[in-house]
Amino acid sequence: MLAVDIQKRVGDLDMAIAFESEGLVTGLFGPSGAGKSTLVNMIAGLVAPDRGRIALDGTVLFDVQSGINLPAYQRHIGYVFQEGRLFPHMTVRKNLDYGRWMAGIAPDQDGMKRIVAMLDIEPLLQRRPGKLSGGERQRVAIGRALMMKPRLLLLDEPLASLDPARKAEIMPYLIRLRDEARIPMVYVSHYARELKRIANVIVRIEAGRVTAFGGPDILTRSD
Ligand code: ADP
Ligand code: ADP
Repeated sequence: MLAVDIQKRVGDLDMAIAFESEGLVTGLFGPSGAGKSTLVNMIAGLVAPDRGRIALDGTVLFDVQSGINLPAYQRHIGYVFQEGRLFPHMTVRKNLDYGRWMAGIAPDQDGMKRIVAMLDIEPLLQRRPGKLSGGERQRVAIGRALMMKPRLLLLDEPLASLDPARKAEIMPYLIRLRDEARIPMVYVSHYARELKRIANVIVRIEAGRVTAFGGPDILTRSD
């Protein structure tokens, strides 16, 4: 379970967000500027809330009252950014290996094989990110995050930089992560159609507040 109860002032925005999600995939939905990315950065440990508490499956990640603020690398949370942000000078294989190497964790050949197969990126392993399509890059970025065996995967508008055909190409992989690998995710999007396909729980965020919470059916046709 992901339990969030935070307050944060960011720029002109006064955020006060509380929810508890048991969903395998929690969708954060809302317009640009609502605070979704800031919230994801707080879950990742990249931004500290001003007040409140964040817990994941019973582990407190942040609690202002007891002074707990686990550093990002101790949260075991993976992050996939909108643009992938792969290391441009490294091959795909190096990109996949790099996190474990940096953290001093043993290489994981079996995990690598499973992840490479699940995302169909075997033919890309010797290439550099500049030679990949946008969709391929995002698959590698997802694979790189999974190599660290995260307890939670954060995806912030992972399809936003892709054209419609590429968006359609990636979605089945995300559904595979959910249904086969059962990877818990927090998935940010301002497209209801995307969230209806992937999320079990929807948190609607507008101007720094939760304005609706529930199943995908809370997303209306006009969203
Ligand atoms: P998104 O809606 O996906 O966050 P934006 O275009 O709003 O995309 O923001 C892109 C980046 O710029 C984000 O990392 C965000 O934190 C940062 N950003 C957004 N608004 C501001 C701002 N007013 N001042 C500085 N940085 C901002
Ligand atoms: P969303 O992801 O929903 O688009 P963000 O979390 O990116 O929203 O932004 C929330 C608010 O915080 C926006 O008003 C944005 O302009 C502001 N903001 C984001 N990053 C920064 C920043 N680095 N400095 C100042 N304001 C920021």
